[in-house]
Amino acid sequence: MTGASCVTVRVPAKVNVQLAVGAARPDGFHDLANVFLAVSLFDEVTATAADALTVSCEGPDADQVPLDRTNLAARAAEILAARAGIAPHVHLHIAKSIPVAGGMAGGSADGAAALLACDALWKLDTPRAELLDICAELGSDVPFSLVGGAALGTGRGEILTPVDAGTFHWVFAVAHGGLSTPAVFRAFDRLTADTVVPVPRASPELLAALASGDPDALAATLVNDLQPAALSLRPELADTLAAGTGAGALAALVSGSGPTTAFLVRDAESAAKVAAALEAVPTCRATRPTTSPAPGATVVAAF
Ligand code: ATP
Repeated sequence: MTGASCVTVRVPAKVNVQLAVGAARPDGFHDLANVFLAVSLFDEVTATAADALTVSCEGPDADQVPLDRTNLAARAAEILAARAGIAPHVHLHIAKSIPVAGGMAGGSADGAAALLACDALWKLDTPRAELLDICAELGSDVPFSLVGGAALGTGRGEILTPVDAGTFHWVFAVAHGGLSTPAVFRAFDRLTADTVVPVPRASPELLAALASGDPDALAATLVNDLQPAALSLRPELADTLAAGTGAGALAALVSGSGPTTAFLVRDAESAAKVAAALEAVPTCRATRPTTSPAPGATVVAAF
């Protein structure tokens, strides 16, 4: 509980170190075995008492972020307010560093952050389990944004089991433009139409490598079943992946549905080298060296 009129929540981006995708279900969703890892690339959402529900956004991709009720931060505020029987009167300001439509769950992150910020601003003290239910209602990746750290997601990705993770260093290469997650899943369906898609299962080798903190072991086990689909829509991402491994990255993969690419590196020194090489590649718009795991959505200021 706070007596604040302004609450700021910091929330991390994620990378999927394993993204195993099953065949399309009758409801159109895909079963997933999804190992989420939160990385130290953060958005901040500030909730301020207001007379109406409004959203603003700052950051390099701000012009691509919807400021209406379709923004996941606004939807989070609306759902929370409806459950509490109050009007969703709040101004939500998003300081955005997570690439938009980049496969790093930026919108989901803002949804989780807004939920936590409004809960504190409105002094609701909603039980954690209920906040997680609202997150799952908002989207498959939203519960993990609240929880952070490292977790195995099953079902559509929203059923979370925490897993152990040592510290790892990463470089993310932000691409030009975004990719629509549904479009990437449709490409996955096309590419796998004539094959028997195995039931997705978490890899024990990958979970052991993640817990060990050994980057060579993790590099050998990283897997993203959506990567061929993302590359079929954006073939030029292959150049970015090759540039990172050429500069010494231990492994390279498309982050989630892309088009952001993720490079696992040995240490901060290697991260700087890989980032410099990626900056020279025309398919790379910007680089973000990070570490993992990062904490989930956290109140960082209330006044
Ligand atoms: P995921 O990794 O969960 O598939 P993503 O990182 O690829 O998602 P987002 O950045 O979440 O993609 O954006 C996807 C779309 O969601 C955007 O194109 C935008 O229209 C919409 N959107 C809604 N709310 C937000 C938000 N707060 N920030 C960014 N995009 C948002």
